[in-house]
Amino acid sequence: MKIVIAGAGIGGLTAGAALLRQGFDVTILEQAKALGEIGAGVQLSPNATRVLYRIGVGKRLEGLACEPPGKRVRLWNSGQTWPLFDLGAASREVFG
Ligand SMILES: Cc1cc2nc3c(=O)[nH]c(=O)nc-3n(C[C@H](O)[C@H](O)[C@H](O)COP(=O)(O)OP(=O)(O)OC[C@H]3O[C@@H](n4cnc5c(N)ncnc54)[C@H](O)[C@@H]3O)c2cc1C
Repeated sequence: MKIVIAGAGIGGLTAGAALLRQGFDVTILEQAKALGEIGAGVQLSPNATRVLYRIGVGKRLEGLACEPPGKRVRLWNSGQTWPLFDLGAASREVFG
């Protein structure tokens, strides 16, 4: 089966890599003339990083990313903080 994906963002490239690994014939079309950094960081949740490991780019990700221990909320007017959820090692223990 031939599959055409519009857009070479993280979603299109990840879907494309996963489909290629399943043996599909994949073409990704990107409207931009070149792919490059736009100067913004992106926070990926554990379900997203697990997919990146499964398509074989997890090790490369480790060299580019930092691993926060968790996510906290801070109230703008009082500075009060509280934890939302654990990430990093704690997240790996729970979800494998
Ligand atoms: C400043 C900023 C910070 C963000 N921080 C986070 C974050 O921390 N965590 C998070 O999960 N998300 C974050 N996001 C959202 C993030 O951009 C998306 O989660 C992520 O990029 C979505 O990936 P995507 O591949 O779906 O879309 P995109 O990255 O938008 O990629 C879509 C691609 O499709 C191309 N395209 C569009 N239309 C066509 C067409 N008709 N034909 C061909 N190509 C086309 C575009 O040029 C683009 O390259 C942030 C966004 C911004 C702007």
